[in-house]
Amino acid sequence: MTGVPYIMFPLASHDKHCIKEAQITDKDRETEAVRRIGSANFGNERVILAGIMNSGIRPDRPGGCAGGRLRENGNGVTDMNERYCFKCGTELVEKELKNEGRIPWCPSCEEYRFLMFNTAVSMIVINEETRKILLIKQYGRDAYILVAGYVNRTEDLETAVRREIREETGMQVSSLRFNRSSYFAPSNTLMVNFTAWVKDDREFNPNEEIDSSEWFTFEEARKNIKPESLAARFLNAFLDEQEETKTLAYYETNADRFVQTTQNVGFSEIRDRFLSCLKQGDHILEFGCGSGRDAKAFLEAGYRVTAIDGSKQMCEIASSYIGQKVRCMRFEELDEKECYEGIFACASILHARKKDLPELMRKMCDALKPGGVMYVSFRYGDFEGTREGRYFSDFTEESFRELIGKIAELSEEELWISQDVRKEKEGTLWLNAILRKKPSGYE
Ligand SMILES: [Zn+2]
Repeated sequence: MTGVPYIMFPLASHDKHCIKEAQITDKDRETEAVRRIGSANFGNERVILAGIMNSGIRPDRPGGCAGGRLRENGNGVTDMNERYCFKCGTELVEKELKNEGRIPWCPSCEEYRFLMFNTAVSMIVINEETRKILLIKQYGRDAYILVAGYVNRTEDLETAVRREIREETGMQVSSLRFNRSSYFAPSNTLMVNFTAWVKDDREFNPNEEIDSSEWFTFEEARKNIKPESLAARFLNAFLDEQEETKTLAYYETNADRFVQTTQNVGFSEIRDRFLSCLKQGDHILEFGCGSGRDAKAFLEAGYRVTAIDGSKQMCEIASSYIGQKVRCMRFEELDEKECYEGIFACASILHARKKDLPELMRKMCDALKPGGVMYVSFRYGDFEGTREGRYFSDFTEESFRELIGKIAELSEEELWISQDVRKEKEGTLWLNAILRKKPSGYE
């Protein structure tokens, strides 16, 4: 490779002839940084063609290649710049593009050359029959990841999802859904994550790209996916949503029964404890109001109330019960600044995941006025997970204090344990807390 000042890795499909002309030598193959290499005439210059290992660039896939030029420094390739036009090889200059800033411009083509990147799809493959998720091992590495593959030029993402799964596993996708996307810098790739359902695993026949594979339950998949990987971030976000959806579905389905068992339960003792920290007319946010039991009591006692709940069904029931509109909103959507003297979150944020609670409580704290108070309650214990169809994060005094220790502006006003007031839940213990937001500096 020495003596050639520049190498240019192969361009897209219209430059296939360059790849064909390329003479690949064994010596070149040994060069670690370079995946496939050859030389070709490009413009009036002789260049080397190369794909760079671990860059995600696929010289064998049109559209999997980026146009550009690489500078070689003797130790392998270190510097990748799109400094030359991918069509004609002319050196690019920067030119102002309205609202976009300075963009590379080819003076001979007279066209802008936006920076190029690869696009890949990543799939959470679910077997509809068994509700299991497929994880695979690849490239000789001993870690489970998601099925993934590069998107070909001219291909839409949905087609790429179906094709990749067909190619790699032999299975037909019956339906798919976009989840989220994330740019992955090490391979200059925009990764787009989908859930892809297959009817069953009868056609399952992994190709040679897959070293090994396994179908996991949702819980097992979470434990087995390569930690800290992008695949894990995609999978965990999906699984979190599944649990949240399940919890909300519980309230949608059981709304009437839930109302019956909670609406007329005597809960005044805890409400009074909370109200003793407020004064009449104060504005209370009821965060997860359920049947509307407490919101109604607050309104009747002369407080202003804003009530929200995550379940549409509960919102409808509570709205008519309290005689004012209850907003349907998920906890994490809370985005208010110093609006309330009090927040009442009775048995509501106990459905959030422990890892999400510091952020959520910080948002609640932001919504409080300085010196304001919030009431929160959790089931007592150390459990976290799905129980009776809903997700629960339980706390003890110790683990709860650790949690609020993460939110500098909150201090503990009161912390106590109580018995469940519902007859059928007798013996269930609750951890209750009243927390105060620090008053602002000069008050
Ligand atoms: Zn050009």
